[in-house]
Amino acid sequence: MSDKYDLVVIGSGPAGYVAAIKAAQLGLKTACVEQWLDDKDKLQLGGTCLNVGCIPSKALLDSSYKFAEVRDDLSVHGISVKNPKFDVAAMLARKDKIVTQLTGGIAGLFKHNGVTAISGKAKVLFGTKVEVTDAKGNVKELEASNIIIAAGSLPVNIPPAPIDNEYIIDSTGALELTEIPARLGVIGAGVIGLELGSVWRRLGSEVVMLEALDDFLPMMDLQISKEAAKVFKKQGLDIRLGARVTNAEVKDGSVVVTYSSADGEHTETFDKLIVAVGRKPNSEGLFASDSGVTLDERGFIYVNDYCETEAPHVYAVGDIVRGPMLAHKGSEEGVMVVERIMGEQAQMNYDCIPSVIYTHPEIAAVGRTEQELIADGVEYKTGVFPFAASGRALAANDPQGMVKMIAHAETDRILGCHILGASAADLVQQVVIAMEFGSSAEDLALTVFGHPTLSEAVHEAALAVDGHAIHIANRKKR
Ligand code: NAD
Repeated sequence: MSDKYDLVVIGSGPAGYVAAIKAAQLGLKTACVEQWLDDKDKLQLGGTCLNVGCIPSKALLDSSYKFAEVRDDLSVHGISVKNPKFDVAAMLARKDKIVTQLTGGIAGLFKHNGVTAISGKAKVLFGTKVEVTDAKGNVKELEASNIIIAAGSLPVNIPPAPIDNEYIIDSTGALELTEIPARLGVIGAGVIGLELGSVWRRLGSEVVMLEALDDFLPMMDLQISKEAAKVFKKQGLDIRLGARVTNAEVKDGSVVVTYSSADGEHTETFDKLIVAVGRKPNSEGLFASDSGVTLDERGFIYVNDYCETEAPHVYAVGDIVRGPMLAHKGSEEGVMVVERIMGEQAQMNYDCIPSVIYTHPEIAAVGRTEQELIADGVEYKTGVFPFAASGRALAANDPQGMVKMIAHAETDRILGCHILGASAADLVQQVVIAMEFGSSAEDLALTVFGHPTLSEAVHEAALAVDGHAIHIANRKKR
């Protein structure tokens, strides 16, 4: 087969594989280069999301949630289960099965659409050429009319807590623990820390989270992060803010962690320590010196709004470029690039990207937060509806949290929505669609919502923006 392609995609995570499939659907001769191999040296498609990120973590979150529900929450329904047992090996096997099914699914979709999967590490050369080195060291060169770089991101390591993959582990290791640690330390109370901390807390670990910042989830709307902190505290997550880890060492089969906070230096001993302090772009060794692609000081590939790098016909999408590290953001960027290669005027709406933390309750958001609007001097109004006033949430024994809608004070256009609650990930999507269509809060308020549903809380929050909520006492608006 010829090594000339209309498009070579580097990386088969959600940004890369979606772009490759889309391109093949539109008639481009497309190859996707991926270096990930399984333990039998078989090419593994799907990237971080499918192999060691979104999907396996959600599998563990669901298994652990069901266990915690059986143990703690069923008696209220009149169901009693004595001494429920948990089988960690079964949980891991289920997770692995889902991963295998989905990664195999990508291979099937590649085959169906005619995408050529190429195993090896890619390097971008001058003049839209790609060098691929496979696991045995064989090198070949691909000629491409266009290149999309979607090489993703890697966990950040910090010098005080070097990963040893046994006691001090990163987010990948935290998906493979074969026993429930009695005491689990987590460095970083961000998205990954909260999700993985929740998994092992539900299974019985005592979880201490050490977060360097003084504020909890500062990128979320403050009203939501404040409420979430209370809920997680009740769940037994011991979140210590302003805690900067200065040392972690393994002693006698435990990890001894030293951290400093406003009241001095502290020491804690854990069975395992998860380091979840962020991710960095996977851009090292990806380019020849004359490739023409430039990186910023943090290693992200420099791109414009259309994901064009500084080298002609070379694009970059997903975690390796600016913006939130979210699978769906990368996928949509990939689709935009392919459509533009095909001559269409596609563009991304970066103001309308939902983000979710899959704790229970979930935290989901789209658009601007109240604190951002205050900082920018934008006049706004808010409507809040608590799930405690939702019949459906009460029936499901899930009354925690709220929906908060933010609209422009004059135009009433929805500027943001922030949700803490069961199924927040799915609820926020309704507002994403509304925002994509330039909806006002009143548009949502005038929409018929089915009863009884959790979605009614979105409706009521939209009504509350102008003080018209039915199922709560309306407050005077600012
Ligand atoms: P994050 O940025 O969400 O959180 C890392 C936290 O670690 C921050 O709060 C930071 O202040 C803290 N920190 C950094 N250095 C520290 C130190 N020395 N001591 C104590 N705390 C320290 O990063 P993450 O949780 O690692 O996630 C990485 C990326 O992956 C994020 O961009 C996230 O959006 C993405 N992700 C998304 C999902 C999802 O969509 N549900 C799930 C997992 C990861």
